[in-house]
Amino acid sequence: MEILDGRKTAKDIRKSIKIKVDELIAQGKRVPGLAVVIVGFDPASESYVKSKEKACKRAGIYSKLIKLESEISQETLLEEINKLNRDENIDGILIQLPLPAHIDPDAVMNCIDPIKDVDGFNFINIGSLCVGKEYLAPCTPKGIIRLLKHYNIELSGKKVCIIGRSNIVGKPLALLFLQENCTVTVCHSRTKNPEFHTLNSDIIVPAVGISKFLKSDMVSEGAIVIDVGINVDSDGKICGDVDYESVAPKCSFITPVPGGVGPMTIALLLENTFIAYRKLISS
Ligand code: NAP
Repeated sequence: MEILDGRKTAKDIRKSIKIKVDELIAQGKRVPGLAVVIVGFDPASESYVKSKEKACKRAGIYSKLIKLESEISQETLLEEINKLNRDENIDGILIQLPLPAHIDPDAVMNCIDPIKDVDGFNFINIGSLCVGKEYLAPCTPKGIIRLLKHYNIELSGKKVCIIGRSNIVGKPLALLFLQENCTVTVCHSRTKNPEFHTLNSDIIVPAVGISKFLKSDMVSEGAIVIDVGINVDSDGKICGDVDYESVAPKCSFITPVPGGVGPMTIALLLENTFIAYRKLISS
């Protein structure tokens, strides 16, 4: 069994972005910029935002944090986003989720200029991904594919089972695996006997949000398991959707939690910001 080390892979990605950024700055280009908008106070979101700021700094990307009151109206929030759309020093705009209940997340995501939509949730970018002409794809799914490729894992022809069909993980990930010529099954809360699908798969990706959901009797010998979940167990410790102790010995490759998909998500956010920056400085 080999561990897919998201932390190390993310560091390599960050370093290569920093080199490219430094080269462009040496040629007289401006510094790339990422704006992170956070609405209201949520301890988990605050911690994610801090990690993103730290990662930006390490990659040579300027980060701007915009903290807004949870009572903000949707109209005012959209005005703030439009200011960032017009800001020539900002290449990427990220709206930290979840948003307060009175705000329509689709309206917010679709207000972001698709060129600066580094989370890839704008309908234009999702549509481009759907027809195989991706510009900025969502970071977590993109990070998963990148991690597998980093370890030279052949994807073409593999049977993949994703558990979870959210718009931010499950669905875009299914599209990315299809692009890699995998055969994809997507399970969800109404799927009967998910173990039938997982046992028949080469790669299993639980993105459910339930601690230790994937048990060893759901996994075949030699499977590759990518754990997307970030949960807190009964002892208050961070754990994934995989019952790691029992599943890992059966796997050919597995991601740990923490240190697997999480750092890759942030690395791919930096990469998406760099892609947007390249497009904007050359337009
Ligand atoms: P979500 O929007 O809550 O979606 C969860 C999905 O799991 C839904 O599609 C749901 O099915 C399915 N599901 C729930 N119970 C199930 C069951 N018993 N059997 C099969 N499927 C079931 O969650 P998400 O935003 O995709 O996130 C999933 C997990 O990944 C969370 O732990 C989250 O914290 C984590 N996450 C991690 C990263 C990272 O960077 N590592 C990024 C994003 C999310 P229905 O559609 O039928 O309800």
